Amino acid sequence: MKHFPVFVGVAGRRILVSGGGEAAVAKLRLILKTEARIEVFAPAPVPRIAAWAAEGRLTLVPRALSDADAQGATLLYAAHEDAALDARVAAIGKRAGVLTNIVDNLQDSDFITPAIVDRDPVTVAIGTEGAAPVLARAIKADLEERLPPVLGLLARVGKSFRPMAEKLLPGRPRRDFWADYYFRAGPNAVEAAGEQALPQALDDLLADHLAAGRRPGRVDLVGAGPGDPELLTLKARKALDRADVVIHDRLVSAGILELARREALVIEAGKTGFGPAMGQDDINALMIEHARSGAHVVRLKSGDPGVFGRLDDELAALDGAGVPWAIVPGITAATAAVAQIGQSFTRRGRNSAVRMMTGHDVKGFAEQDWRGLARPGEVAAIYMGKRSARFFQGRLLMHGADPSTPVTVVENASRADARVLATTLADLPQTVDALTGPAVILHGLSPRVAEAAIETSEPRELAL
Ligand code: SAH
Repeated sequence: MKHFPVFVGVAGRRILVSGGGEAAVAKLRLILKTEARIEVFAPAPVPRIAAWAAEGRLTLVPRALSDADAQGATLLYAAHEDAALDARVAAIGKRAGVLTNIVDNLQDSDFITPAIVDRDPVTVAIGTEGAAPVLARAIKADLEERLPPVLGLLARVGKSFRPMAEKLLPGRPRRDFWADYYFRAGPNAVEAAGEQALPQALDDLLADHLAAGRRPGRVDLVGAGPGDPELLTLKARKALDRADVVIHDRLVSAGILELARREALVIEAGKTGFGPAMGQDDINALMIEHARSGAHVVRLKSGDPGVFGRLDDELAALDGAGVPWAIVPGITAATAAVAQIGQSFTRRGRNSAVRMMTGHDVKGFAEQDWRGLARPGEVAAIYMGKRSARFFQGRLLMHGADPSTPVTVVENASRADARVLATTLADLPQTVDALTGPAVILHGLSPRVAEAAIETSEPRELAL
C-alpha cells in the first residue's frame, strides 16, 4: 500500500484550490460536499466557479496563490493543468507544510483524492493508487446501487438511538438490530411515511428485537434438491420464506437462494468438494450462534441433507448446544440423475438393491464391497466420484466386473446445463475428465434413449 487511507477533519478549516478551469471545477464538486472553508485562487475563473462564489459557497481570490495564503491551510490542490504553474503551487505547499495534490499527477502529489460514495455521514472512499480508475468507477457505481440513498439519513437518525439499542445484548443481537434498521425497517419507514416516521420505526423495531431475543431460535436442516428450484419441497420453500439466516453449501443454486426472504442473512459455508472450505466446526458454531440469538436458521444443503451431507456432525453439535432442530428431506442428486436419463433405480429382474456410494471418505478413497458390485445387473450411484473414478474402475475390474458394463455420468442433474455422458466401465476415467460441474456416476445404467436405440437397431443381439 503506497497510500494510506484516512479521513481528514476539514470542518471549518481551509482547503485551497489554485486554478480556475475545468480540473478545478471537478475537484470543487467533491470539496463542496465538505464543511471546509474553500478558497479558490484564480484570476480568470470559469463561470461555474464564479457562480459558486456568488452563492457564497466558496471564496474567490482573483490572483495567483502566494506563500502567505498557504499558511495554516489543511489541503491544497494545484489544478492548473499546466506543469510549470502546478509545480510552482506545489512548491508553495511544500514551504508551508500543507499536503498538496497536483491534479492528474500522482507522482508529485502528497495525497490523492479517492472516488467517493457519499451517504454522509457514511462515506466510502475507493482508491486504486492510480492503477485502475475504470475499476474505481465500476466499484463506485456498484456501491451507489447497493447502498440505499437514505442510508445517510438513517445513520444520522440512528446515531441518537444508540443508547436505546444498548438494551439488546452486545454482539450478534445488536448487530442484527442495526442491519435490520439500515436495510429493511429504516428504508421501508422512510418510503412509506418519510423521515419523521423513523423514530417510531426504531422504537417498534427495538421492541421486536427485544421480543425475538427472548424467543428461542432453531435450525431447520433443509434439503435444497439437485438445483432446479421447482424440485424444492413445499416445506423447504416455507422454511426459506421464514428464515432469518440461511447457511448454504456452495452447491446450492442461485435460483434457490433467491427464494430466501429478502431480509435474510445469507451465508455461504462453501463446504463442498475440494475447494477452500469453512470448516465443519465453523459451520456448527455459526448455526448455534445465530440460533442462540433467536434466529430461525435454515441450514440449506444440496440434495438431501441425509445423503453425504455431514448431517450427523451438525445434529450432534446442535444437540450439544441444546438448540432445537428439524430435518426437511430433499431430492438427492442420484434420483435426479436417474430421472434425467429416463431410467429407474430399481427394476424387476435386474436389481432389487441400489447402492449410494461416495468416492471419498475421511481416509481417502472409499473401500466398498467390490465383489458384490462387480456382479452383472448391479446398480450404484457414486457421489463425489470425479477424482476417484479411476480407483473405482480398477477395483471393479480387479473383482471381475465386465469392462463393457454401462455407466452414465450425469453432470448438473436437473439444471439447465445438465449433461449426460453415456460410457462404459472401461472408458469411465476419460469420460470423467471432461466434467466441470457436480456429477453423479450411475454404475450399471445407460440412458433410456441409448437403450431404446439398441433395442430397435440390434434386436437379435438383445434376444440372445
Ligand atoms: N446431499 C447431496 C450430496 C452432497 S455430496 C445430495 O443428496 O445430493 C456432493 C456431491 O453430490 C457432488 O460431488 C455430486 O456427486 C453430487 N451432486 C450434487 N448436486 C448434483 C447435481 N445437480 N448433479 C449431479 N451431481 C450432483
